[in-house]
Amino acid sequence: MSDSPLSAPRATDGRAPDVFHAGGWVPMKQFAEHDAVDFVVIGTGAGGGPLIARLAEMGYSVIGFDAGAYFRPLEDFASDETSQSQLFWTDERLVDGANPLKMGSNNSGKAVGGSTVHFAMVSLRFRPEWFKSRSKLGYGADWPLDWREMWQYYSRAERDLAIAGPVSYPWGPRRPRYPYRAHEINGAAALLARGAEAMGYRWTETPLATVSAPRGNSPSCVYRGFCRVGCSTNAKQSQLVTYIPRALKAGAEIRDLAMVGRIEVDVEGRATGVHYHRNGHWHFQRAKNVIVAGYAIETPRLLLSSATDRFRDGLANSSGLVGRYLMTQSNQAAYGVMDDMVR
Ligand SMILES: Cc1cc2nc3c(=O)[nH]c(=O)nc-3n(C[C@H](O)[C@H](O)[C@H](O)COP(=O)(O)OP(=O)(O)OC[C@H]3O[C@@H](n4cnc5c(N)ncnc54)[C@H](O)[C@@H]3O)c2cc1C
Repeated sequence: MSDSPLSAPRATDGRAPDVFHAGGWVPMKQFAEHDAVDFVVIGTGAGGGPLIARLAEMGYSVIGFDAGAYFRPLEDFASDETSQSQLFWTDERLVDGANPLKMGSNNSGKAVGGSTVHFAMVSLRFRPEWFKSRSKLGYGADWPLDWREMWQYYSRAERDLAIAGPVSYPWGPRRPRYPYRAHEINGAAALLARGAEAMGYRWTETPLATVSAPRGNSPSCVYRGFCRVGCSTNAKQSQLVTYIPRALKAGAEIRDLAMVGRIEVDVEGRATGVHYHRNGHWHFQRAKNVIVAGYAIETPRLLLSSATDRFRDGLANSSGLVGRYLMTQSNQAAYGVMDDMVR
């Protein structure tokens, strides 16, 4: 067992943990703080991870910062729910308003790989009509882009994440086959499927970001059942085992246990770098561009706490809406009581 990933940064000295081999390391490029890198990306989760990888692959110098730890899945994740708390962002956070968000254990992750290290892997697409929900369905707002554009990105992400899904998805326009076959449904799901059929509903297996057959260093899912504690076999296709290794290979640097506290902007209002806390000290990293990908809660918090004389209400907040009307993840689950034994 390696030292605790929470006690000291692991991505240092020109190397980062090799998430696929116990105790292993992979080489990592490191940038000097006084060198203005092309991009600093704050957050290495679902938003930041692919961006860091793609920017590095396009030849940009990029550093991904994460307040969370750099876990080694093969060694750090136990088959035990209490161990899950190490992945949550449970620091004190203040919320207010008529319908305040519930903070704590279920709404965001804190790790290299972000919430995807403990997310439930359900990988659904937004349906075409939902992109124009105001004009077509009479609620919400229309998106500024067409569903076809977004669906191209879904296809790419589904390939990169080896999503396991049904051969033919029964709703919406035809889509390319999922790269991996769907997982077998379990007893509880079979019961639900029977119920759905009895009521005339169509059903299908849920597309999931855990491999149904071996992929590179990821063995096929063994249905261990502690997915949200962190997958200890690497079957789960989190950012930690997909885009982050890709990013490192392409020359990106990852700074773990590095909490960004403020984005610095110059007199023209352009970002010049970030102040971050690591190893007990505040540091400053120069950057030409700063991307904030810290989830629905920490992104607005950072923008608001980066206020200046010129931007008194925080950065990117000319609308006054940053930090208001927040939504965390929505959920597709339904709950019910069954007459039959579900197991
Ligand atoms: C328990 C759980 C289950 C979920 N299940 C599913 C599911 O099945 N399917 C699905 O589609 N979605 C699911 N989600 C939601 C999904 O994980 C998130 O919507 C997604 O990860 C959000 O991506 P993000 O990049 O915005 O943030 P995250 O993935 O959370 O990444 C943000 C990262 O930024 C870091 N960070 C934040 N602020 C700073 C800062 N100031 N300095 C440095 N680092 C910072 C955090 O440590 C974190 O690692 C689930 C979420 C949770 C919590």
